Parts: sequence; structure tokens; C-alpha cells
Amino acid sequence: MQRIAIATSQLQDQQILLTDEQYHYLSRVLRLKAGDRFIAMDGVGTWWLAALEEAQSAQIIEQIAVQTELPVTITLMAALPKGNGFDDVVRYCTELGVSKIVPIISDRTLLHPSSQKLERWRRIAGETAEQSERAIVPTISEPVTCAEAISSITAIYRYLCVARGSNMHLKTAISAVPPASEIVIAIGPEGGWTTAEIEKANCANFQNVSLGKRILRAVTAPIVALSVIAATFEESTPRVS
Ligand code: SAH
Repeated sequence: MQRIAIATSQLQDQQILLTDEQYHYLSRVLRLKAGDRFIAMDGVGTWWLAALEEAQSAQIIEQIAVQTELPVTITLMAALPKGNGFDDVVRYCTELGVSKIVPIISDRTLLHPSSQKLERWRRIAGETAEQSERAIVPTISEPVTCAEAISSITAIYRYLCVARGSNMHLKTAISAVPPASEIVIAIGPEGGWTTAEIEKANCANFQNVSLGKRILRAVTAPIVALSVIAATFEESTPRVS
């Protein structure tokens, strides 16, 4: 069934008030008629089965239980790589189950992103969440420095991926983390974290971890980290449908 993303502010009693764009998409592009059903996702955990109406609205039929989220909440702090590499980080990490992405302007980040970039990443997160049948759309915050990101973090379990050195593997480090925890994972830029950034993070209780013996690209490392976390915590119950 077709799915569209809506904002919670569009819900009113048992109705969804559709925007011009959503109504156009449902009635013209998908050619749904009054009474035809579709799924509306509010991006914060709930899906609704709804039927299109004659006016620019839809009637809510019922709430649908979605259980596609990981049992842990993952925040990814990722230094901005060159070019459009961050588009891929957003896309793949959304597929893999990230809850929040904090773009980092690190000491070795060359360019400061434009505000259009942030909008673009948020659009990618929304579209990918829809396609991956996520219950939530990951939030993407404004780019901040490493120090600013560290000071705003509340999660207890904090890991800093460092490409070199003899650090414990992320897989081992998270083995004692209980389900339903919040985990923060930080990935550096192409040039790696500076010593000052590593020291600052360590002072804020980030544990240095390894993702293996090979040096991964700044775009690959978040994918590997997310995969390791998902593989550790993913519940063995099968998907419903
Ligand atoms: N140019 C750096 C590597 C940067 S790789 C060097 O030669 O040392 C970009 C980022 O990916 C790193 O800052 C780190 O966060 C992550 N990363 C890449 N490979 C990794 C590995 N094997 N273990 C842990 N983190 C890794």
C-alpha cells in the first residue's frame, strides 16, 4: 500500500488535512479515488490507515502497529566529509536504523555547509525512512562543532571511532550495553580526528573504539558502526508482513 509522510499538526480528530502537494500526489500521481486507502506516517512513531476523501482530506480508519525500530536509540555524530558524501551517510544510516544524526564541523572539516544542505539531508532522511518502513524519521540537527555536540549529549554509552591504535572493537565495547539504551557513536572526517578532539571526547567519557584493522572511508565507517550495533541489538522476532 502507498505510504506518505505527514506532520502531526495535520491530524484533526479522525481526519488528516492534506497539503496541496500531498493531495496532488495521492489523487493525480497515484490516481487514488475517494475511498481508496493509503498509509500516513507521522514520522514520530505512528502509522495510520486512511481513506482519501472528496475534499482535500482523508478519513483515519485505524492506527497501524509498526515495530521496525531497533531496541536501542542511536545518535550518530559524523564529521562532514568532502563533497556530497554526507547524502550517503544520511541515506544508509537511516536505512540501518539511526535515530538522530548530528553533522559535525570538525577541526579538519574544510567547508561549512549551506542551509540548503541541511534541508536536503532532512528530505533524504524522510524519503529513506518511508522506503525503509521506519516508524520514525531520524532527526538531523544543525551542524555543530565537536565540542558543542559533546556538551549536548545525554546518552551514557559513548563511543569515538578512531582509525588507528589498539582500541577495543566496537562489537566488544557494546556487548554489555542493555537493550533500550541510548548509544552515541562518533565518526571523524577523511583526515581523522585531531588529538585535541580525541582528548575532549575522552574527557566527556567517550570510549575510543575500533571498527577493524582496515582504514575505512569517512562515508563507510558510519555504515559499519551502525551495522555492528544493529546486529548486536536487533531482536530475533520476525517482521510482521
Ligand atoms: N586519515 C585517517 C583516517 C580517517 S578515516 C588516518 O589515516 O588515520 C575517517 C574516520 O572513520 C575516522 O576518523 C574514524 O572515525 C573512522 N574510521 C575509519 N576506519 C576506522 C577503523 N578501522 N576503526 C575505527 N574507526 C575508523
